[in-house]
Amino acid sequence: MGRIAFIGLGAMGAPMARNLAAAKLDVAGFDSAEAAREKAAASGLDARASLAEIATGAGAVVTMLQNGEQVLAVWREALPLARENALFIDCSTIDIVDARAAHELARKAGALSVDAPVSGGVAGAEAGSLTFMCGATGGAFAAATPILEKMGARLFHCGGPGLGQAAKLCNNLMLGVAMIATAEAFTLAERLGLPARTLFEVAAASSGQSWSLTTYCPVAGLAPASPANKDYAAGFATKLMLKDLRLAESAAAKSGAVTPLCAAAAQLYALYEARGGGGRDFSGVIQMLSGKA
Ligand code: NAD
Repeated sequence: MGRIAFIGLGAMGAPMARNLAAAKLDVAGFDSAEAAREKAAASGLDARASLAEIATGAGAVVTMLQNGEQVLAVWREALPLARENALFIDCSTIDIVDARAAHELARKAGALSVDAPVSGGVAGAEAGSLTFMCGATGGAFAAATPILEKMGARLFHCGGPGLGQAAKLCNNLMLGVAMIATAEAFTLAERLGLPARTLFEVAAASSGQSWSLTTYCPVAGLAPASPANKDYAAGFATKLMLKDLRLAESAAAKSGAVTPLCAAAAQLYALYEARGGGGRDFSGVIQMLSGKA
C-alpha cells in the first residue's frame, strides 16, 4: 500500500497514527498546529511540517479533522499529490453532504475513498479498539480494511458513500436522547423518594435498560466505568455530542426526516454548554436537569 499520510494529529488522530506505526506500517503525520506536531513527535511519531511532504507519492491518506470544510480542503490539496489509485479514508465526524463531496473529489481524481467515522473516543483510539462505520464501494472498503483493523476492533460496512456518517449520526442521536431520558428518570426518582440504586437495578432488568443506564449511568456509584464517578470528566465531551446532534439535525432537515427529540436534546446540551459544561462529559447534563449545576 506504500506510505500512509496521516493528517490531523489531535486527541484522536495522534494515537490512531501511533497504532499504525506500531503495526509496522510506513506512516508519516501532519497537523497544521505546531503544538500538535510537537506532541505527536514527542510520542514517537514521524510528524512533518508540511502536508505536501507526506502526501506526495502516498499510497493512502487518512484524515482525522474537526469538520467537513477542513476535510475537503485537505483532500483537494492531497489528491493531486498522492499516488495514482491511492486510497483516501476520512475518519472525522462531518456533514453527510461534505462526506459525499469528498468522495466525489476522490472519484474524479481516480482515487478510492471511504468515510469511516469512529466510536470509542480517545480511550478507544489509544487502545486500538475503535469501531469504524464505513461508507464506501465494496472495493474501497476492502482496500481500507488492512489499515482500519490496525486502529479498531470492529469494522462495519454500512453501505455506499456517506452511509458511514449516516450510521454515526443516527447512533449518536439515540445516545444523546437516551442519556437525557435516563437523567430525567433519575431526577424524577429522587423527587419521588425512590433510591437511585433501586431504579438502576429495576430498569437494568426491565424495559428502561440502555447503554446510557448500565454502562454510562449519569448517577455516580452505579456503573463502574461511568464518568459520573469522576465528577463528569469527559469521556465524551458535551461539545462533541452537541456537534453530532447538530449534524444529525442538518441531515434530518435536508432529508425531510422528523426528529423533534434530536432538536430538543441539542437545545439541552447547548444550554449545558452555555452554563460551562461544554468540556465536561455529556452525562453531566443531569446536574443541570436536577438543578445541581
Ligand atoms: P482535535 O481538535 O483534537 O484534532 C483535530 C486536529 O486537526 C487538530 O490538531 C487540528 O490542528 C488539526 N487540523 C485542523 N485543520 C487542519 C488542516 N487543514 N491540516 C492539518 N491539520 C489540521 O479533534 P479530535 O478530538 O481528535 O476529533 C477529530 C474528529 O474525530 C472530529 O471530527 C470529532 O468529531 C471526531 N471524534 C472525536 C471523538 C473524541 O472523543 N475526541 C470521538 C469520536 C469522534
